[in-house]
Amino acid sequence: MHHPPTATAPKMADNTTIGTTSLKPLLEDALSVQDMSVESIRAIRGPKSREAPRSPTPATTPTPVPNIVLTPPTPAPQLYPIFINGELPSKSTGTLTKLELLPILHEVILRPKKTLKRTEKRMSYEEGWVGTQRGTIAERSCHECSKGCGPFTLCCVLEG
Ligand SMILES: [Zn+2]
Repeated sequence: MHHPPTATAPKMADNTTIGTTSLKPLLEDALSVQDMSVESIRAIRGPKSREAPRSPTPATTPTPVPNIVLTPPTPAPQLYPIFINGELPSKSTGTLTKLELLPILHEVILRPKKTLKRTEKRMSYEEGWVGTQRGTIAERSCHECSKGCGPFTLCCVLEG
């Protein structure tokens, strides 16, 4: 009987395992299947453990949990979000950034036949909207508003 060693047996298995296998009589071989299986398991496990000396040591350093704590150096100023006719401004401008610091005082109402168009004047309209919303109602309407030409029903003035 020159059976090749079991396919599962690694090539690096030492001679003793293969030797005993070939030298054993057939009957004994059949009877000692369990022993052989244990031996083969040892033979498999032995070299493997040597090949991989890396013991399954648990990671000593636990994965650091990042502390996401937003601590701004200076407290952010109170902002009053800008909505122009229920919509966010088209873009941020210096004027709008300043206006965002002012509380909302008035409800802005567009004059009839006036619409917020997406034109090159859009931003001045948006700034005018927010300025009217947060400014001081003018004691005397400006020339445009007094003629009813302003876009809003209120005529507001802003300091600065
Ligand atoms: Zn006006």
